[in-house]
Amino acid sequence: MRFSPDLKIAREKKLLAIEEIAKRIDIPSGSIECYGHFIAKISWQYLKELFSQPKRGKLILVTATTPTPAGEGKTTTAIGLTDGFNRLGQKAILCLREPSMGPIFGVKGAATGAGLAQVVPREEINLHFTGDFAAVAAAHNLLAALIDNHLYQGNALGIDPRKVSWGRVLDLNDRSLRKILVGLESRKSFPRVSFFDIVAASELMAILCLSQSYMDLRERLANIQVGRRWNDTKVTAEDLEAAGAMSALLVHALKPNLVQTLENNPVFVHGGPFGNIAHGCSSVMSLHTALRLSDWVVTEAGFGSDLGGEKFVNILCRQSGLSPDCAVIVTTIRALKYHGGMELESLAKKDLAFLEKGLPNLLRHIEIVEEGFGIPAVIGLNRFSVDSEEEIDWLGEKLTDMGHSFVLCNHWQQGGLGAMDLAKKVIEKSSLHKSNCKFSYADSDSVVEKIRKIAFNIYKAGDLSFHPTAYNEIKRIEEEGLAHFPLCMAKTQYSFSVDPNLKGAPEGHHFYVREIRAATGAKYILVLCGEINTMPGLPKVPSSSFIDIDADGNIIGTI
Ligand code: ADP
Ligand code: MG
Repeated sequence: MRFSPDLKIAREKKLLAIEEIAKRIDIPSGSIECYGHFIAKISWQYLKELFSQPKRGKLILVTATTPTPAGEGKTTTAIGLTDGFNRLGQKAILCLREPSMGPIFGVKGAATGAGLAQVVPREEINLHFTGDFAAVAAAHNLLAALIDNHLYQGNALGIDPRKVSWGRVLDLNDRSLRKILVGLESRKSFPRVSFFDIVAASELMAILCLSQSYMDLRERLANIQVGRRWNDTKVTAEDLEAAGAMSALLVHALKPNLVQTLENNPVFVHGGPFGNIAHGCSSVMSLHTALRLSDWVVTEAGFGSDLGGEKFVNILCRQSGLSPDCAVIVTTIRALKYHGGMELESLAKKDLAFLEKGLPNLLRHIEIVEEGFGIPAVIGLNRFSVDSEEEIDWLGEKLTDMGHSFVLCNHWQQGGLGAMDLAKKVIEKSSLHKSNCKFSYADSDSVVEKIRKIAFNIYKAGDLSFHPTAYNEIKRIEEEGLAHFPLCMAKTQYSFSVDPNLKGAPEGHHFYVREIRAATGAKYILVLCGEINTMPGLPKVPSSSFIDIDADGNIIGTI
């Protein structure tokens, strides 16, 4: 087993001590809590003082066109852009999500960028990092254990075991845990069907990422709804006296993690909800921190503008009061050809016909961001070495004819140097065009109306249907006064529709809502659409087959 080229690049680069990175954004060394030499959390005392100061930075949202299974380079572009800003002498901080070990051992692999656009220390961030995911899993599973223990110990709250809606979580892809039987070990327990979700899909991860203080976190945890009593009233984490201990498990996890890019620029890597089955944005805490420490804050939201982008606007911005000043829509020649119908294995081949057929996908994303969300957008074409000049030129001319343009980004090969043009364009765009960020639906819209607005206006569905139990849940959400919550749409990342095979920019498709859950702690309504699953499976040849260690305990392989 060999080092992956990305790991090799990361290992060869000299990192600065994390105190030096903190100093560059004026955080005194006494205000960080070090995890080794290159990772630190920011102390709460410092954050408290900082949050009393006004925000000064502009917020740049990095989103993308609909991806291929490998991802199209949002993380890599966000890193390049941050390095590009800093090369221009602008103070910029990047806020990214923490990688989940599900994709690392599954299909997508590591989530810390690639080539010369990386966040380091690579292996540490990708595996375990500061233990935030483990803390979220522990807090989540503590609540699950308390529910089963309550049933076992006499069930004083009168919980209906059939209506326990809180499962367990694990930060791995493991389809065999999607449906499980629990409580089989003694006559006093209640055997019942339950489930595992991946940590990145859990309500607790969303709570961690949306909380703005310890008391906000504590209150959200208390409000989590775990099931119903025999009389159908709801049972919360507070009813089980769980919220205090869960908060205790998350004390360190709420503090942002500071690391650096290969060019020694500051990065907060904090919180890790998936973009398809969760809200897909890094923590509000890290954004609030970064916006007070630098002039530019670059952040990525998972998958395309229809998914992470939509939820950034409709969940994160709504709950936090933040709003992007400009967006970067990352696209690639590969992704456009893929959405034009080209086979994944052939994407390296030059083909203008497939590129032309895939172009509507990019146009739809531009429309969503600029017209739908009201955010000025810059298109960043993330260059792959197999892209031909002819394809790049063709796309440039075609976009110019349509009144658009892209910036060619070469950060993978050149680091920040290759994204300086992108940074310049973002500066220009955000100074010439004021963002008028708007939500896709009103708080006061009914739940069905909210879903209709997303399905028809963003996904361009032709009609909409609901599983009968989803309708019942909507009725109950309305009766219980929760209908003002925003939606957390969970659907495939590979299509605007619920069918992952429907590529390009489909219109008039049938949109199917399978399940609805009120997430009273995260304060959103989870809308599960089509066949989307909250515990992914592994592929036939998982990436874990290519990861190993050497005799000195160094991690090697494709991490
Ligand atoms: P996203 O954040 O959109 O999912 P990433 O930035 O994580 O995408 O990129 C996914 C993977 O694609 C990277 O790990 C890297 O292997 C590859 N990649 C991205 N950009 C480039 C590029 N310009 N050239 C070569 N490979 C790239
Ligand atoms: Mg990414």
